[in-house]
Amino acid sequence: MNFYVMTLFPEMIMEGMKTSITGRALQSGVISVETFNIRDYTNEKHGHVDDYPYGGGAGMVMQAQPICDCYEAVMKKIGETEKKPRVIYLTPQGKVFNQKLASEYAKDENIIFLCGHYEGVDERALELLETENVSIGDYVLTGGELPAMIMMDCISRLVPGVLGKEESADIESFHDNLLEYPQYTRPVEYRGLSVPSILLSGHHANIEKWRRERSIERTLKVRPDLLPEADLSDKERAFLRELESDRKDN
Ligand code: SAM
Repeated sequence: MNFYVMTLFPEMIMEGMKTSITGRALQSGVISVETFNIRDYTNEKHGHVDDYPYGGGAGMVMQAQPICDCYEAVMKKIGETEKKPRVIYLTPQGKVFNQKLASEYAKDENIIFLCGHYEGVDERALELLETENVSIGDYVLTGGELPAMIMMDCISRLVPGVLGKEESADIESFHDNLLEYPQYTRPVEYRGLSVPSILLSGHHANIEKWRRERSIERTLKVRPDLLPEADLSDKERAFLRELESDRKDN
């Protein structure tokens, strides 16, 4: 998986990505991240990349010219490909990123990100680059760099070879539209609180059942909106109905 990031702040991207698990994946070559500084592509003699919005209003807008020229440099670097790489523009106005989108993107070989700043980007750049617009949530940040890093982190975890054997993406929150069960590690007792005894029993089937039930319980409590799409057995559906009727009674 190769990520290409068009940004005004390349150092921010690399500082974040070279740490921990993504850093290890970069070193081993399972993923690559290359930044392109949009400012390097401006035709403006003072190095400006933004200007006032037509029609008035607060803030500055990133100009189309440096972005389009930067994109051409990225495409030149990528070279001929079977499939045109998707260009993701990070914007609060995009579809909201989630684990399902991450799985879809993880199948790509190349992904290009465009990070906006200030009031955003001249709409014509988005049209010309045929961007896919993606948001990381219903709030507004100062720039697209953190959203790009969040997406790259999440997508990378799904690329084969990024997670070690001991770290699996298969049983985590959202995997099958359930939140993960509660986790415990040593010691068995801490400040009067004990690890649930079933987890010490060594009985794998019972532990699995307990974990599935805690996942269902937790999802019902915190994210009931996920449950209609959850992958549940008949027994688990019956367990869920019991929980729901208990909640109604209380
Ligand atoms: N004026 C824009 C609007 O109202 O939609 C917001 C611009 S925001 C201050 C500057 C840049 O931060 C955006 O161009 C985008 O790249 C990035 N950004 C901010 N919030 C974001 C979010 N929730 N998801 C993805 N990108 C975001």
